[in-house]
Amino acid sequence: MSEASDAKHRRLQELVDDIVARLAKETERGEVADYIPELAKVDPNRFGMAIVPVDTGRAVVAGDGDVPFSIQSISKVFSLTLALEKVGEALWKRVNREPSGDPFNSIVQLEYEKGVPRNPFINAGAIVVADVIMEGLSPKDATNDMLGLCRRLAHDGSVYVDRNVARSERLTGARNRALAQFMAAEGNLRGSVEDVVTTYFNHCSIAMTCRQLATAGMYLACAGIPIGATDASINADRARRLMALMMTCGQYDASGEFAFRIGIPSKSGVGGGILAVMPGVASIAVWSPGLDAKGNSLLGTRALEELVRATGWSVFGRIPDRD
Ligand code: GLN
Repeated sequence: MSEASDAKHRRLQELVDDIVARLAKETERGEVADYIPELAKVDPNRFGMAIVPVDTGRAVVAGDGDVPFSIQSISKVFSLTLALEKVGEALWKRVNREPSGDPFNSIVQLEYEKGVPRNPFINAGAIVVADVIMEGLSPKDATNDMLGLCRRLAHDGSVYVDRNVARSERLTGARNRALAQFMAAEGNLRGSVEDVVTTYFNHCSIAMTCRQLATAGMYLACAGIPIGATDASINADRARRLMALMMTCGQYDASGEFAFRIGIPSKSGVGGGILAVMPGVASIAVWSPGLDAKGNSLLGTRALEELVRATGWSVFGRIPDRD
C-alpha cells in the first residue's frame, strides 16, 4: 500500500470511529422490531459500521462491525440478483419496478394491481422473487443457493442462516402468508404458499456482519470497474439497475426522504441493517437495531447522513475534495 492510500485509510477509519463514538451516546435509538419475537431479543445498543472503498479494497470497520445480525430485507437485493441470474428479464412480467409509497408488508396495492407486486424490495415482491429462485428446487436448495451467493460475494464461508430467526418468522408470518395466498389466487405463484414463504423467511434470516455486507456490496460499488474484487458473473448493466431500484424502492415508503437526505442507493432491513453504495467509490454497511416508524434503522440512517456530509458522497454530484 502506498503512503497516500494508507493516509486515506486512516482518515476514513477516524471518521467512522468518530461517527460510531458519537452515536453510541445517543439515548433515542428507535424501537427494535418485535413483530418477529426473535429480533426483539437483540440489544438496541449494538452499533456497527463498515466501509470498503473501491480504490483500496481495504475494509474500514468500527464498533460492532464484526458481529453478525439478521439482514432481513437487505436479502432482497441478493435474492433479486439471484433471480435475475436465473430467469433474466422474464422476471419483470411478475414484478414491477415502481416505488410503492406503502409500508413494506402492505397488501392494498396487490388487489388493485392483480397480484403483481409494485417492486422486488417490498415483501410481496421478494416473495415472488423467492418463488422464481425456488422453481424446480426444494426450499432447502433454494435457501442454499442464496447462502452460496452471499458467501461468495462476502468472500466468507461463515455467513449462515439463523435458524431461530427463521423459526420465529414462520411462527408469526401470517401477513406474509396472506400476501403469498393473494398472489397465488391471482396466478402469480408457482410453488406452494408454505414452501415459498419458508424460502423467503430463510432468505431474510441470513446473518451477516457489517464487514461481510460491505464486502458483498462491492459488486454494486464496482459496477463496470474491472478490478479483482468484482464478481464477474454480475454484469455492470445489471448492477446499475439494481442500484436504481435501491434508490427508488430500497427504504419502502421512506425512499424519497432517504434519497433527499442521503442521496445514495441503499437497502434497509428490520434487523436494523442498511447496505448503501456510492457507485465507483465505496460499499457501506451500518447496523443499529432500533427502527424508526417506517421500519428503517434510526441511527443507521443518521450515521449514513453524517458520512455523506463529511465525504461529499452523493449520486447527484460528488464533491471530490471532501473524501
Ligand atoms: N422478514 C421480514 C418480514 O417479512 C422482512 C421485512 C423487512 O426487513 N422490512 O416481515
